[in-house]
Amino acid sequence: MIVTEQKAFTEVNESLVGHQKIFVIGCGSCATAWHTGGEAEVKEMVEKLQGAGKTCIGWAISEETCDERKTRRELRAHSSELAEAEGVLVMSCGAGVQTTALVLEDKPVYPALNAMFLARLQRLTRADERCLLCGECILASTGGLCPVTLCPKELLNGPCGGYNHGMCEVNPDRECAWVSIYHRLQRIGQLDRLHLIQSPKDQSKRGHPRLVDKGAA
Ligand code: SF4
Ligand code: SF4
Repeated sequence: MIVTEQKAFTEVNESLVGHQKIFVIGCGSCATAWHTGGEAEVKEMVEKLQGAGKTCIGWAISEETCDERKTRRELRAHSSELAEAEGVLVMSCGAGVQTTALVLEDKPVYPALNAMFLARLQRLTRADERCLLCGECILASTGGLCPVTLCPKELLNGPCGGYNHGMCEVNPDRECAWVSIYHRLQRIGQLDRLHLIQSPKDQSKRGHPRLVDKGAA
């Protein structure tokens, strides 16, 4: 899941300066699960905008705002309101905001959220970062725990010299990633995998912007 946070309303309102008629679109996927841009939050935003003197001429939820086909379909169903809209506020991650901007070629589009990280959802109110999308997954050698993400130094071959009684020197309230990996490998009978030397990451795989095209679908 992509974890997002809502921007302060003052920032959102300032970004809409010069626009009176606003359309709001939320995301039915991550932002709904994380309660930052689902139906309840979209309705709350509509009320706030109206309280600030704006006219909300409509709102919608795309099943997944980052999916261009779904967002295009959802927005097509609101074409008459959108024709009137002076600005569109998107309550999703940055991928969803940009997808909306590309679908609505001639409309100004604004973000209501900050996208933060790719996470495991532990419970409805708690999520922790789990993957930096490095493009070369090494979880097979590390017991399914990611040192690239869990170690602040992104060390690939065991801990640094600074770990203290099993805790991380950078984040002393967290277990060292490599201690966690060691315990995990021990539990699943794969300690021998600690001897595999990981090559340095091919940083070109993290170069931006990345594109994958699997051909006609
Ligand atoms: S190694 Fe870590 S950062 Fe890279 S793809 Fe796997 S989980 Fe993601
Ligand atoms: S103590 Fe462990 S998790 Fe922290 S920086 Fe060093 S190797 Fe990484």
